[in-house]
Amino acid sequence: MIPDRINLYDLSPAVLEELLRGWGEPAYRAKQIYRHLYVHRTTDPSAMTDLSKALRERLAAETSIGNLKQVKLLTGDEGMTRKVLWALPDGSPLETVLMIYPDRATVCVSSQSGCPMQCVFCATGKLGFLHDCTPGEIIEQVVWAARELEDVAKQVDQASKIENRKLTNVVFMGMGEPFNNYENWWTSVERLHDPNGYNMGARNFTVSTVGLVPGILRLAEESLPINLAISLHTPDDELRSEMMPVNKRYPIAHLIDATRVYTEKTRRRVSFEYVLLKEKNDFPEQALRLAQLLRPADRPPLLCHVNLIPWNPVLGAPLSRSDRKRVLAFQSVLKERGVPCTVRVERGVNIGAACGQLAGA
Ligand code: SAH
Repeated sequence: MIPDRINLYDLSPAVLEELLRGWGEPAYRAKQIYRHLYVHRTTDPSAMTDLSKALRERLAAETSIGNLKQVKLLTGDEGMTRKVLWALPDGSPLETVLMIYPDRATVCVSSQSGCPMQCVFCATGKLGFLHDCTPGEIIEQVVWAARELEDVAKQVDQASKIENRKLTNVVFMGMGEPFNNYENWWTSVERLHDPNGYNMGARNFTVSTVGLVPGILRLAEESLPINLAISLHTPDDELRSEMMPVNKRYPIAHLIDATRVYTEKTRRRVSFEYVLLKEKNDFPEQALRLAQLLRPADRPPLLCHVNLIPWNPVLGAPLSRSDRKRVLAFQSVLKERGVPCTVRVERGVNIGAACGQLAGA
């Protein structure tokens, strides 16, 4: 992969058209190429047989279909979870996880290589911040997943287990903090949503943020109604600042206020992620305080849902995972207080592909 080539996935339809016009090609060529990229998901210009040979050759010489080089593919959950490790042109690692279910398939996409947020319980933060993905580098991960899903569904031993061969959900919950790379990330969402392109419905996207308030307020103003998940992890400021340095900049009250602005503006339910760490943030009293935070006596309840995530082990972190009993006890306090709450079903733990385990290995 030559990094200074034009990555076709980085180009908007208008810019692609401009490039081709500069090459003396008619505008409809751009549409044909766009279809190859997003609908046929072609990986090689020589397969774009509706283009002239000269154009195919020029594309091959001067552009690339994606920037990511596949380093490793790991499979787990009987082939239904597939994690790919990529190398970016500068050598930084990036990971993407495809989770296949009989009736749906979700791809978990990275927005940055490494992460600047430094949450103590997450493996990605241990890498530090390495690289902001370009829109194309984000899009490419989704296109890969769509292709991979089709390929797996064709395998005889898997075919009967997969009724739906289309990617149904894109979650921005891989490496990095999407709102820390907002422009590029949002461009990728718009491009993937484009009916002439990949054509993914807005409600099929979910972005997860560490709690960057400006990003939440900005998303509230966007026209596409995508889903928002917020990593809360505790109702207590002191503990949250210890677990997530971002809390010193955007403490809980501020975060909750921004969330209210978001739900009032969009009328959409947000989900709060809550990683359960044994005897740290999984006591019933904390569940009670969480319920009070989300359903306060003096304000209307926040339009939300809580997603409990038993912590996945990260090497070197002096933490432990809440056992099932503590998870269920925590959940029942929330439910009794009227807070909708589910426990996330884990995928990919034994291939290091579960939440918070993405560290480029
Ligand atoms: N930066 C974004 C998205 C990344 S991770 C964010 O912070 O939301 C997606 C989710 O996995 C977040 O809720 C994150 O806090 C959680 N997570 C991180 N490390 C984890 C671990 N070791 N076990 C379980 N969940 C983890």
